[in-house]
Amino acid sequence: MDILVTGAGLRRKSGLWDIAIADGKIKEISRRIKGRPKQKIDARGGLVTESFVNAHLHLCKVYTLMQISENALKAYHGGNMGKAMTAIEAAAEAKKNYDEKWILPNVRRALKSAIRFGNTHIRAFADVDSKARLEGVKALIKAREEFKGVVDVQVVAFPQDGVAREPGAFELVREAMKLGADVVGGIPWIEFTDADEQDHIEKMFEIAREFDAPVSMLVDDAGDPGLRTLEMLALAAIRHGWEGRVLAHHARAMCMYPDPYFMKLVALLKRARLGVISDPHTGPLHARVRELRAEGALVALGQDDISDAYYPFGRNNMLEVAFLNSHLLWMTSAADLEEIYDMVTVDVARCMGLKGFGIKTGHTANLVVLREPNVLEALRNHGEPAAVISHGRLVEMKKYA
Ligand SMILES: [Zn+2]
Repeated sequence: MDILVTGAGLRRKSGLWDIAIADGKIKEISRRIKGRPKQKIDARGGLVTESFVNAHLHLCKVYTLMQISENALKAYHGGNMGKAMTAIEAAAEAKKNYDEKWILPNVRRALKSAIRFGNTHIRAFADVDSKARLEGVKALIKAREEFKGVVDVQVVAFPQDGVAREPGAFELVREAMKLGADVVGGIPWIEFTDADEQDHIEKMFEIAREFDAPVSMLVDDAGDPGLRTLEMLALAAIRHGWEGRVLAHHARAMCMYPDPYFMKLVALLKRARLGVISDPHTGPLHARVRELRAEGALVALGQDDISDAYYPFGRNNMLEVAFLNSHLLWMTSAADLEEIYDMVTVDVARCMGLKGFGIKTGHTANLVVLREPNVLEALRNHGEPAAVISHGRLVEMKKYA
């Protein structure tokens, strides 16, 4: 036995439990486990749960807020997000000087923060366009290798400025996949016409098929009920046989859709097994998270940004994200809080296609030992866990301070 956790509270279970970990896996969960572990952790009645997962982070842009004017932030957060596209254009300022050399230290800082807060799996977007070139991708791939086994990073080759309106983006995304990116990105809603949106999605699926890779696209991220790229993406997922391998992020325009269209869309999302990652704290509008969940669609929460042109805060602390969104979604009952907790752990892991994730015998031991005895207090404090176990190993916090 490598690690024995004793005196652990478990969600939806009464009393205290012991958890034995060996060879990276959870070997046993029972009331009392005897044996001689290499390491022993006394949870002192604290809640032990799955570690946190973040399916949406613009990791190449972290801590760039100070480099740019506040114009992007004002445009993105203003009114009903009528100027979301203007924000993206203004934010491109930061990319004039894109260089792996200064991006990589920022990325390391954000990943160290993730470790501190028990966030062990991240889907990270790297901008790929004529300004950013492949600098962000290179930095993220390097960081992925450095942090492997502690924080698992999936790198998304993300054409932030479009495909049809950004000449060369298609080739650059392909190059990024050749370099070793894991996921094909996309942002069809910022194209100028419906035909270009459709073409954007098709071109990115062409690359996804070539590299047999999952797809993650930012859709309908503005206050315009006419935006319909989530529907287009779900249809493409089905057409290409990519069910269960596509994620949609944001989908903020959904909050303005009429109910009959929304219900049709939900049926389509379920058919495509397409998960929606929502980040209500980074913009004034958000996807209809509660209704999607009530209808049985897959939806989870993401951090989105850490101190960049779109959002000034963020620590890769998914308990903080959960706390904020408990307010924004008005999910505050005991049952709601459990759902919120699922949306930053097991549900988001399902969105990202993580295998063997969850507190269960035989699964990979990705765990946090919290200082609080239950979900309510964990959310109230949204602080650092007492201990983090990633891939069966106790994380040495001093190394990442
Ligand atoms: Zn985003």
